[in-house]
Amino acid sequence: MSHPSFLRRITQQVLVGDIAIGGGVPIVVQSMTNTDTVDAEGTARQIFELAQAGSELVRITVNTSEAAVQVPRIRKMLDNMGCDVPLIGDFHYNGHRLLTDFPECAEALAKYRINPGNVGKNRKGEDQFAMMISVAKKYNKPVRIGVNWGSLDQDLVVRLMDENARLPVPKDAAEVTREALIVSALDSAKRAEEIGLAHDRIILSCKVSDVQDLIAVYRELATRSDYPLHLGLTEAGMGSKGIVASTAALSILLQQGIGDTIRISLTPEPGGDRTQEVVVAQEILQTMGLRSFAPMVTACPGCGRTTSTVFQELAQSIQTYLRTQMPLWREQYTGVEEMTVAVMGCIVNGPGESKLANIGISLPGTGESPAAPVYVDGEKTVTLRGDNIAAEFTRIVDDYVTLKYARRVAGDKPAKRIEIKAI
Ligand code: SF4
Repeated sequence: MSHPSFLRRITQQVLVGDIAIGGGVPIVVQSMTNTDTVDAEGTARQIFELAQAGSELVRITVNTSEAAVQVPRIRKMLDNMGCDVPLIGDFHYNGHRLLTDFPECAEALAKYRINPGNVGKNRKGEDQFAMMISVAKKYNKPVRIGVNWGSLDQDLVVRLMDENARLPVPKDAAEVTREALIVSALDSAKRAEEIGLAHDRIILSCKVSDVQDLIAVYRELATRSDYPLHLGLTEAGMGSKGIVASTAALSILLQQGIGDTIRISLTPEPGGDRTQEVVVAQEILQTMGLRSFAPMVTACPGCGRTTSTVFQELAQSIQTYLRTQMPLWREQYTGVEEMTVAVMGCIVNGPGESKLANIGISLPGTGESPAAPVYVDGEKTVTLRGDNIAAEFTRIVDDYVTLKYARRVAGDKPAKRIEIKAI
């Protein structure tokens, strides 16, 4: 899907497994597990759920020998489940050792995340970084040089602060710290290439937890290389705060064409569903018109004209129905993820919004006659009445999908890994 005011930054393209990142292809959604990787069954189950929800890449923690041993088992379990989502290993401190001591782990992963702030210091750190890059070269794996504000190389920060202090007009400390993030990423990428990793095997990220800092860092980073960028607000937080902060930061950058793969770092509620971060990532991309994952429901907020809960219940049941049906529809029809449905509360904006959607229904507000006109492709087709409006409207949606979207022919497989899990 293209948008007239949207221009993507031109980057190299990096292949992670069979998923392309950068080079103008659609922005990739990724996520990360929060299971103990040593628990191979639990980790494989969560990866499967994330992939089913639409995560096109999934990152897992590889922090101990015990975890590294389980990585090839997890890969095998997923393959047996028919889930080929590429796995990314997240390494800190001991990645050089784990990747060299456990070659089957190194092979099973599709990408390595390397945090330059956590590979070690001075000569030792350089050697350990080189060990990781050598493994990436050996197995032809891409890496993400993933710098993080919370683990930024403090020696680098001190050096840049000292240089800054000697300037006639020193910059403020926050600006120097942002520069340190960028320098850390770019210098590490340069070192990786000097060691022999190909230019098109490198992705960069510089994650921070403040929205304005993230925007400033990525804007600058985007001008200083053509590596694809992994975009995400780190430690975004819980609930609406995490969603709003991530959306605010990412949408500004995405609109400027910056960002080739995104991850939303939400803290789940205790016992909450990890797949929420995938749904949020998809909804950011879809509401911006950058990709389509599932039919979108336009619903008005309701007001004093909607005194019953019929309108909210219909909006919710349709939204759930669409997501539930989507895995099946995707297998059977092409383009159904671009369908739009409007569920409106009264006559004020109901008919207008309903006409703009593929299918829309305008429910009767307080004092209106108890009739709900339905619009299909802008034309009023039927008026629903009585207690069975939800079921009848759902049937109309089903019929529309059947008639409007072309059936897939044998061998015409839907695009991979963008199925939607019911929520
Ligand atoms: S469409 Fe009607 S019910 Fe919905 S917010 Fe507007 S005035 Fe209120």
